[in-house]
Amino acid sequence: VVAVLFGPPGSGKGTQAAALAARLGVPHVATGDIFRKHLAGNTDLGQLAKSYMSAGKLVPDEVTCKLVASRLGEPDAANGGLFDGFPRSVAQAEWLLPFLSGRGQPLEVAVNLVVPDDQVVTRLGGRRTCTSCGATYHVAHAPPGPGDTCTRCGATVIRRPDDEDAVILQRLQTYHAETAPVLGVLRGAAPVHDVVGTGTIDAVAERIARVIPA
Ligand SMILES: [Zn+2]
Repeated sequence: VVAVLFGPPGSGKGTQAAALAARLGVPHVATGDIFRKHLAGNTDLGQLAKSYMSAGKLVPDEVTCKLVASRLGEPDAANGGLFDGFPRSVAQAEWLLPFLSGRGQPLEVAVNLVVPDDQVVTRLGGRRTCTSCGATYHVAHAPPGPGDTCTRCGATVIRRPDDEDAVILQRLQTYHAETAPVLGVLRGAAPVHDVVGTGTIDAVAERIARVIPA
């Protein structure tokens, strides 16, 4: 299976993608994970990506696409993969679709998680993250321990700079301007199912299962 899970920041797509990939028996292809692996392994591509990031620049599409291609070359991706956080620009989508077809595994299906902007702001704005183990909390739904401590490891729980209101609004703006147009490109290649991304993790997983049965 070759599929894309699409959605704005804070739509919970990482969580859903991990579960869906496991259900479909394909790897969860998340660009963040691929970056981290190449950085940790100090590969040529990792060093190239790092040279942009340490200069405060965005990693160019060309480099991101090479990282994704390298991931798809690994044995566990022989039968496909579930993309999460990729493609995030029209240029990346226009590289990915022919690349997949060239492998004889064209894109089969995509899910677009629909979450309204105001809910994204509530979700991400209320998120708190452990500085040590990375556990996440939410001020309203899953608050941290007393004195903003992690209930798992006891370290301090903070609001990450990424989750400040101004940054969230900026991320949403970038999403609508640069990433949302990717949907149009995907719709030209495969069925794209709009799925309501609000509610509990289980409720959203159930809606996804209805459009992508095992
Ligand atoms: Zn912790």
